[in-house]
Amino acid sequence: MASAPNRAGAERQLTIAIVGGSLRAASILRLLSEVDNIEVAAVCCSNATAPAARLAEDLGVYATRDYTEVYQVPGLDLIIDMSDDPAVHTALNSQRPAGIEMVGTSGSELVWDLLVAKKRGEEQEKLFVELQVAYDKIRSHERRLQTSKEALERANEELESRLAEIFFTHEFFKALTSYSSVDDVCSLIVDGANGILGAEISCVYLFEREDWTLRLRASQGRPEDAFDPVISVRDTILGEAFNGGLVHEPDVPYGSGSGRWCRESEDVRSQAAVQLRAGDHVIGVMVVASADYRELTPVELERLQVIGNQSSLSLQNALLHGELERLSVTDRLTELYNHGYFQQRLEEEFGRAVRFNHDLALIMLDIDDFKEFNDTYGHPRGDKVLQAVSEIIRGNLREMDVAARYGGEEFVVVLPETDAQGAWAVAERIRASVAEFAFVGAEGLAPIHKSVSVGVAVFPTNASSAARLIEAADMVMYTAKRGGKNRVIVAE
Ligand code: GH3
Ligand code: MG
Ligand code: MG
Repeated sequence: MASAPNRAGAERQLTIAIVGGSLRAASILRLLSEVDNIEVAAVCCSNATAPAARLAEDLGVYATRDYTEVYQVPGLDLIIDMSDDPAVHTALNSQRPAGIEMVGTSGSELVWDLLVAKKRGEEQEKLFVELQVAYDKIRSHERRLQTSKEALERANEELESRLAEIFFTHEFFKALTSYSSVDDVCSLIVDGANGILGAEISCVYLFEREDWTLRLRASQGRPEDAFDPVISVRDTILGEAFNGGLVHEPDVPYGSGSGRWCRESEDVRSQAAVQLRAGDHVIGVMVVASADYRELTPVELERLQVIGNQSSLSLQNALLHGELERLSVTDRLTELYNHGYFQQRLEEEFGRAVRFNHDLALIMLDIDDFKEFNDTYGHPRGDKVLQAVSEIIRGNLREMDVAARYGGEEFVVVLPETDAQGAWAVAERIRASVAEFAFVGAEGLAPIHKSVSVGVAVFPTNASSAARLIEAADMVMYTAKRGGKNRVIVAE
């Protein structure tokens, strides 16, 4: 098979001589010298300092002042006559050997135009290639920039969310240490579970030793009545956590009892619970749940444990604080309020009664012949009587009433929004209950019956101040003593 002729090989070298020294001749010399397959072999002009002669020297092209010499250039193909001199042109033409072409002024114009057009085309092409390369570079830089920008943005977002979480956690832990009431701490814990773990539902249940149950103390994510307020320590995930520590169920089986702390089973598709502890004792359970499948990551589970630990500490503090507060206002023996708390509450209730124009009653009560009982059966038995009487008083009151041990065997009851008739009824119930009660005197012997003398005074009828109200009640109580004891007297 014949191969295609090589174009470059087929193009033979063209040898040219330029006649003339003008600027235009120099320009053609420069353009031609850059063209492949063309060799400018000689430049001929009468002036050695003309532009074309000087450029010829620079380019190393043979230059001569004698135009007859051009015919001695070996292999000459073409003469470009740019001398603009008809005599030179005629002379050149007359001596021109066969085989050597010559172009004159108009021909050289054509050569010029062609060269310039070619040069422009080449430059444009070069420029286009350079542009293409630059464009590709810019595109690749742009792609790299875009990729790193996206990575940077992702890192930034992660950093921001991590920062927000750290900030929230810090605030949460700080708040935990500054809250002192159990209810406040519990509310804070469910908020923390929501903020740090993004828990849809969270609840805190505290342990009630009396009946071994867990009682709802704070909730978030659903209305409070969506949750069972009392859970046995054997039931649901709460019981499991209470007995075993951290429990996680990413996919609660349908119909399983472990989510029953929530009344609507659809609310609990995934759940986790963690113990709240005080030293060796479990004091409650924190539970988080979602209506969707959610598997907590190891990091999230660790966070749950950390929230549990930190919450436990605050809860323990709050419980202690609450217990201390309770102790500071409670009488040890009778578990009723003490004298100090009674005075404070009486002042408060008196102020309220004055402000809202309500009645306020005060009952004062003293055990009859108690010295004699002590002397006969001893003080420990006497203490038991004090405790039993206190229990009877407590059992006959409303939530808003305040009962206190006033002194040795004397008691007081503040009854807000109660008139003389109402207070008398309460006093009479207490008196009758005490009189009926069978106290133990000595082991194995018949029970002893004790009685109380009771005085009742009411604001505004009997007193214009809290202190006067005490005096008034005290006075009628002594009237009851003098009248034969075991009776109730209401101040006139
Ligand atoms: P009255 O019917 O007039 O009230 O006679 P009383 O004996 O109850 O009155 P009195 O004020 O003479 O005696 C009060 C007694 O209460 C004196 C004290 O031994 C006894 N008492 C006071 N505080 C306590 C206590 O905490 N425990 C016991 N066991 N007895 C107490
Ligand atoms: Mg007495
Ligand atoms: Mg007394």
